[in-house]
Amino acid sequence: MNVGNIKVVAPFKGYVISGIKFEEIGGQINLEFDRRSGPRCPHCQQWLPRNKAGRRAVMDCPMTHGSIVYLTFPTVQGLCKTCDRYVTTCPEEVHPNCQATRRLMKMVSAWASVATNSQVAAMFEISDATVRRYDKIVLKEDTPPPCFDGLKKLLIDEKSVRKGHCYVTIILNGETGELLHMQEGRKKESVEAFFEQLTEEQRAGIEVVGIDRSGAYQAAVEAWLPNADMVYDRFHLVMNVNQAVDEVRRSQCAKASKEDRTLLKGQRYLILANQEKLDADGHKKLDRLLEVNKTISTAYILKEQFREIFSYKAIGWAMRALETWCELANASGLASFQRLAKSFTQHSKRVCRFVKHGLTSGLIEGFNNLVSRMVHKACGFRDLDYLELKLRHHSVMR
Ligand SMILES: [Zn+2]
Repeated sequence: MNVGNIKVVAPFKGYVISGIKFEEIGGQINLEFDRRSGPRCPHCQQWLPRNKAGRRAVMDCPMTHGSIVYLTFPTVQGLCKTCDRYVTTCPEEVHPNCQATRRLMKMVSAWASVATNSQVAAMFEISDATVRRYDKIVLKEDTPPPCFDGLKKLLIDEKSVRKGHCYVTIILNGETGELLHMQEGRKKESVEAFFEQLTEEQRAGIEVVGIDRSGAYQAAVEAWLPNADMVYDRFHLVMNVNQAVDEVRRSQCAKASKEDRTLLKGQRYLILANQEKLDADGHKKLDRLLEVNKTISTAYILKEQFREIFSYKAIGWAMRALETWCELANASGLASFQRLAKSFTQHSKRVCRFVKHGLTSGLIEGFNNLVSRMVHKACGFRDLDYLELKLRHHSVMR
């Protein structure tokens, strides 16, 4: 390989390449100071007196067939008069606090967004902890801080991030899907910490907050954003109704005769799936099941009717449809639906305001899936700062 060619992709400003050695097990690129410039302060480019000299080796991107490449270069530690402190020289390409070039760290970080950290560690022959460290540094540098100006819509949710009741509170920009805030816990304090960061003007600009009906956040939103409309997001409402259906299915299962039980068992998906998602065989099975058990059939009809509320384009129509639904739910005699009807009647505006604000459940649903995938991939997250960085980066860059 020609030394001049390497200078094109890795200019090593202030250094010259004194030797390149490529063997099957790996490669080594040796640098020396360029005599014309000598050692310079990495922060201000001022010439540096040689107080202490040494040599460092760091990892660089692997060669095409995957073997490791090391970069070695001389170091000088000296007092920079301009910066007024002791500094150590290193080429621009090298991260001053890591045993690696920045391009290698970026490569590791890019792989960590698609593979597990253990897989990336094996690939680059470094430890899991090093993968995490590099990834965190790169994500921190590459992700701009959140901007709270002009915020109009917020989505607030909670998410389990590892086994044993570890929850985080998540706040998204309801228009862009950007992650604005993540904090351990799911109490109202977790959202208050976010509201405290906003200026009065920023808070006043928020028009609507999409929220889970059963969460602890409602009181905090009422107190901090008195002028904002609260909307129960569709994703959670549908989940609430599905839970009510499942409660009915389980109780019917327990009561059923041996013969009927075999028919009912393991049919959770069949009952909860959206009708249009079932194939011909699924439809046949579902029809048979609903025919055999009238109670489940009632729950099923209520579930399908509830979804229709979201097809209305005028809030008045949606409110009327919800009212009708609550009457049916009350008349059904099913306790789990009567409970829902009571709450929906009480907060009917919060159920139906989605029409006015055009809040869809897509963003929160998509984000929930993203968190689940990441948590699953990493077998749960202990380092919540790292999880937040990854999620924020994803939500900004997608
Ligand atoms: Zn300096």
